[in-house]
Order: sequence, then C-alpha cells, then structure tokens
Amino acid sequence: MNWLVLKSIFRKKMLTNKILEFKCENSQISHPVNIKVTKRKKTISIRIDKNKILVNTPNFIKEDYILSLLERKKKWISQTILKNSKQYKNNFINREAFYLGKKYKINIKKGLNNEVIFKNDNLYILYKRKNVNVKNTLERWYRLRCYLLLEDRLNYYSKKINLNYNGFSIRSFKRRLGSCDNKKHICFNWKIILMPQQIIDYVVIHELCHLIHFNHSKFFWEEVSNFCPEYESYKSWLKDNSSILDY
Ligand SMILES: [Zn+2]
Repeated sequence: MNWLVLKSIFRKKMLTNKILEFKCENSQISHPVNIKVTKRKKTISIRIDKNKILVNTPNFIKEDYILSLLERKKKWISQTILKNSKQYKNNFINREAFYLGKKYKINIKKGLNNEVIFKNDNLYILYKRKNVNVKNTLERWYRLRCYLLLEDRLNYYSKKINLNYNGFSIRSFKRRLGSCDNKKHICFNWKIILMPQQIIDYVVIHELCHLIHFNHSKFFWEEVSNFCPEYESYKSWLKDNSSILDY
C-alpha cells in the first residue's frame, strides 16, 4: 500500500491531524510526519530527516499505536530536529561561524580598524566603533577568502583537466553554488567558503566540467568522476547540509 493512499484512508477513519503533524516540545513548531506502510516489515521505525519525521510501519499496526509512540518519543524527536536545524548554519547570536567546514567562535575585540583576522585557528572581528555589523563584516571577509581560494583551485584543476576558462567572479546566490556561461566565465556563490575544502573542490570541478558538457548528462558525470571519484557522496553532503546557504 502506498503511504499517500494510507494517509487519506487514515483521515477518513477518524484519525486526527496529529499523525500528519508533530509539534516540537519547546519550539512548538509543527513538522510533517510521513508514514510508510510496508508489508515486509515486522517492526516500526522512526527516522528524522532534517525536520521531517519518517515512520516506517508494518501494515497490521493501528493508528493509535503510532500516535502513542510519537508521544512517547516526543523528547527524542524534538531534540533531534532541533539539533539538525542548528547543525550547519552560522549562528550570530551564539557567535558561531563556519569557515572551510569547521565551526569557530567569533571573538569580537576593539581594534584600529574594522577587520577580520583568522590566526592560529581563531577567528577575530576587530572593530573601530562599537556598533560593528558582525554579519556584514564577516561576509566581506568570506568573499575575499573565497576569491583567493578559488583562484588557486581553478588554476590547479583547469591545468589538471586541461581546459581554459575565461575568468571567474564571486556572487551571492540563494541556493545555487555556481554557474558558467557559454563565454566560459564561471560564477561562484561566496557561501561555499563555509563548506569543507573537498566540497569546494567538487564545486570547482563541477563547474569546470560544464565547460566540456553544458548539461548534466551521463557524459558530464563521467568527466566529473575522473577528477572527483567521490562526487556522489559530496552531492549527498550538499543535499543534507544546504542549511549553510541560509546566511
Ligand atoms: Zn551543474
């Protein structure tokens, strides 16, 4: 039985919306509960995928039982969702910022100028006047670091793949990581500098390979895998950690 079908039957059978929605313990934010019924299964499992709750259940389970199970596991579900949502995102209230995949505490100190200093694995924001905008100051620094790193990585991989590109620029995209046009100019989202170096390298290889294949055909992915054999896992990492792009 398909779970979508099951949901509609459940509704008709008096089941409340609770089964389709789960309210987090502290935040009181509702999250969808997707129920999947499998004949083969003998046990119920609950999985949290970011902020979605996925329940796998055998077909003989009564809806009341699922409700009570969600209730009993309320604490664990709430905490896991909270953890997932916090996991990979700069948190300016807690003064936490990511750089190359690692989380740093932002140290804010008085200085001669407004500037960001990254020294001995420590991240400092120096301010001249007290009301420094941490987010904007950091963004300017990220853009510069991103530019310098990409210059180096593009140089390295364009030689390795043996192709020429026609310059690159740094931009701010909401979701996309990079793009290239038919003039062989490549654009990158500056927010990739928050991600681990392997991911940045994958994004560079991805865009460079688009200079050969202007699509996502199997030939394109073959080209990518020549220079980045682990690309599948990097793709799924990007899918799981897209929250980092919400700057
Ligand atoms: Zn692409």
